[in-house]
Amino acid sequence: MMVPRPVSVVFRVIFLSLSLLLMGQPATAQKRATRYNAKPSNTVEAAALEFALSADEVNSLVGKKANVLTSNGKEEVDVEITRFFTGRDESQIKSMEVKAENATRGKRLFATRLVEMKVDDKTYQFQYLPSLKAAAIEDMSRKNAAISEKLRASNEEFWDEIPEKEQLKYVDEYKEFLKKVGTHFSGFNMQLYETKYFLFYTDMPAKQVAPYLVQLDKMNELLGQSFGFKPGHNIWRGKAVVVAFLAKQAFLEFEEEFYNRTETGNAIGLCHSHGDGKVIVSCYRGNDPNFFGAVLVHETAHGYIHRYKSTVPIPTWINEGIADWIAMMIVPSSKEVRFRQTEAAARLRQSHTFGGQFFNNDRLDGWQYGSASAIIQLMLKANPEQFKLFFNGIKEGLTWQDSLQRAYGLTVEQLCQAYGQTIGIPRLTP
Ligand SMILES: [Zn+2]
Repeated sequence: MMVPRPVSVVFRVIFLSLSLLLMGQPATAQKRATRYNAKPSNTVEAAALEFALSADEVNSLVGKKANVLTSNGKEEVDVEITRFFTGRDESQIKSMEVKAENATRGKRLFATRLVEMKVDDKTYQFQYLPSLKAAAIEDMSRKNAAISEKLRASNEEFWDEIPEKEQLKYVDEYKEFLKKVGTHFSGFNMQLYETKYFLFYTDMPAKQVAPYLVQLDKMNELLGQSFGFKPGHNIWRGKAVVVAFLAKQAFLEFEEEFYNRTETGNAIGLCHSHGDGKVIVSCYRGNDPNFFGAVLVHETAHGYIHRYKSTVPIPTWINEGIADWIAMMIVPSSKEVRFRQTEAAARLRQSHTFGGQFFNNDRLDGWQYGSASAIIQLMLKANPEQFKLFFNGIKEGLTWQDSLQRAYGLTVEQLCQAYGQTIGIPRLTP
């Protein structure tokens, strides 16, 4: 959730600089890849080899029919795989040759352009490894089965892909719900705005609504990019629902009436992430339209994080850190998140430690939001691909500490120190 902060003086704005600690880490997962002649040069490449086909498995695909997707979006349909060109390591391919049924000659497809292929109903992804100038072929069925099993052990699961027809049904269900909300607030003249991904229900004047809708769409796109979804992917169960009031009183009444909630602290917005995948954000605008924009993006980002890939909950500091980071990116006119970062740095300069009350806490203190977003920002800046690996690792059942180690080669203490260095506290401890 996002709460207002007391207005305070503008501190010196601190720009996060990249920490040396976060750069040039050796690949910690290299051990797993020792059966290959050539080793990947970093943690992202090492992780891409975890479910890669062996040389024999690659070879056994020759002669089979395949659909091959390339990076320009073209698909070679029902072609025969006639040959793989590999380096010395025969599991890593430089290019492949395919032949259409009636073609007289084969066609060469280069590893840099290969994205995905289907053979006998099995999906394979090509993982290009820049340091080796070759691609490994990742067995997605094997990978997903292994992840499913790991998730099941902790009572979590992948979110189902929802067929289009059912998506429409969910949207209808939400519209029924919103009708009830409209009836309850019949004096408010609530209006529904529907976009590709959102149902936005509000008593705000129409001309104020448009910019918020644009920001929500941008958030959707940027989070997809940061976590690893293709543009245009709909993550929501149907769509995400936003109920936005002008006044606080109406927000409180909504929470009590529809969620039985009388205790909202001093929240301006709340994200209701249901176990079945439904996401409903409620909020009120109050007197600061810029801050409200940031709140809206922040809360909806929680819904996105809930819906991403699997039901695995994301630890609070990461969840709040991402929500505040994306709010800062999408609503730069709100200085809120930057203020929080500055404030958190000032607090930590007094204590030089989180005192064990940050990385493993279920709730953050108000000032800690600034550290959460600053650390997320630092990790993204250091390397977006490593961040993707880190976030996906957690959603795939690794503890966040293990995922941090795999993606960045860092312990919690080292991450904390890297952050400390950017705010002038070289020995900051967790
Ligand atoms: Zn939050």
